[in-house]
Amino acid sequence: MNSLKLKPGREKSLLRRHPWIFASAIDQTSGRLEAGETVQVLSHQGEPLGWAAWSPDSQIRARMWSFDPADAIDLDFFRQKLQRAFQLREALALDPLTNAYRLVHAESDGLPGLILDRYGDVLVMQCLTAGMEAWREPLADVLMEMTGAACLYERSDADVRSLEGLPERTGVLRGRLPAGSLLLREHGLQFQVDVQKGHKTGFYLDQRDNRARLQAVARGRTVLNCFAYTGGFAVYALVGGAASVLSVDSSAEALALGRVNVALNSLPEGRDTWLEGDVFQVLRQMRDQARRFDLIVLDPPKFAPTVAQAERAARGYKDINLLALKLLAPGGLLFTFSCSGGVSPELFQKIVAGAALDAGVDARIVGVMAQGPDHPVALNFPEGAYLKGLILSV
Ligand code: SAH
Repeated sequence: MNSLKLKPGREKSLLRRHPWIFASAIDQTSGRLEAGETVQVLSHQGEPLGWAAWSPDSQIRARMWSFDPADAIDLDFFRQKLQRAFQLREALALDPLTNAYRLVHAESDGLPGLILDRYGDVLVMQCLTAGMEAWREPLADVLMEMTGAACLYERSDADVRSLEGLPERTGVLRGRLPAGSLLLREHGLQFQVDVQKGHKTGFYLDQRDNRARLQAVARGRTVLNCFAYTGGFAVYALVGGAASVLSVDSSAEALALGRVNVALNSLPEGRDTWLEGDVFQVLRQMRDQARRFDLIVLDPPKFAPTVAQAERAARGYKDINLLALKLLAPGGLLFTFSCSGGVSPELFQKIVAGAALDAGVDARIVGVMAQGPDHPVALNFPEGAYLKGLILSV
């Protein structure tokens, strides 16, 4: 049987049920370990601690499937984990007017390496680890059977796959994509999503609740929507009665889809504008022109995937927050986010506080935001909490 034995004392994190085993924690292995295979995990004393998937190319050399030595890691095991994940989403009673949400959030649903998002009848899957890669084909059948979906589309093209020595792979895995454009419903609003080429699996589902919070305070305000992507925040701001919404993004394709999304929701014309550009430069120009807005959204891409990049990321966050705070009219609101796993909520708040100090503005926190509940955070896996946001009043 394949097994790995930990160095003395290195079982501590596993006893707290943290699912990662770093290469540096492993004393020896036995058997012929191939990428993705299941290995029994043993303490230094030889006591069985559970089962993990082997990732020979990654510093995270193994990830726990189960902390129960009596478990068998077979298709039934995965069926049960999926069942539990799906039941959780049902229990959340997501707005009946929402048909797009995350069904499986990797480690936080006990399934390291698996992301599964639902867009109505279409499932989009990411396999991010060698372990998940090994189960991908049999799981595809199980997923189709359990969900009754019309299509399972694979978007295994995230950067982290390279850390696992896995190539990018995208395409239809089961069923077929519906002809024409794919529309999703969120809080009764419609959005067109490109699951083949869009970011992540196509849409930033994690911001759903935060977009609704923006809608609630948008009435009458002039809005600057930075890092707009396909206009999620823009549509909600317009629905909430914003006086105007200027959306900035470096991707022309994303902005084009943003325009489509405004049109899809039959909103009054002439209140939305779309600007292709680099937010860092655009904010500087606006500062030089002494522009003012009543509400600004900063939802940048991941500046720091890991703690190691946190310092450089901190400069980026400080830069844009400082500029945005200067552009806010008195009484203005800033919705500011970080989706960097390497930046903790405490660090993020500190960076934003530093930005306010340097901008010379008196700001207070009037809201704290996170990813939606369909992106749960297992208590034994704090890394699962990646999205944090603050609402500041100036
Ligand atoms: N707020 C969006 C998601 C934003 S994702 C939503 O709710 O759907 C981050 C976006 O930032 C992407 O669309 C990407 O194209 C854009 N982007 C990345 N770097 C940028 C830069 N320097 N200037 C402008 N846009 C940038």
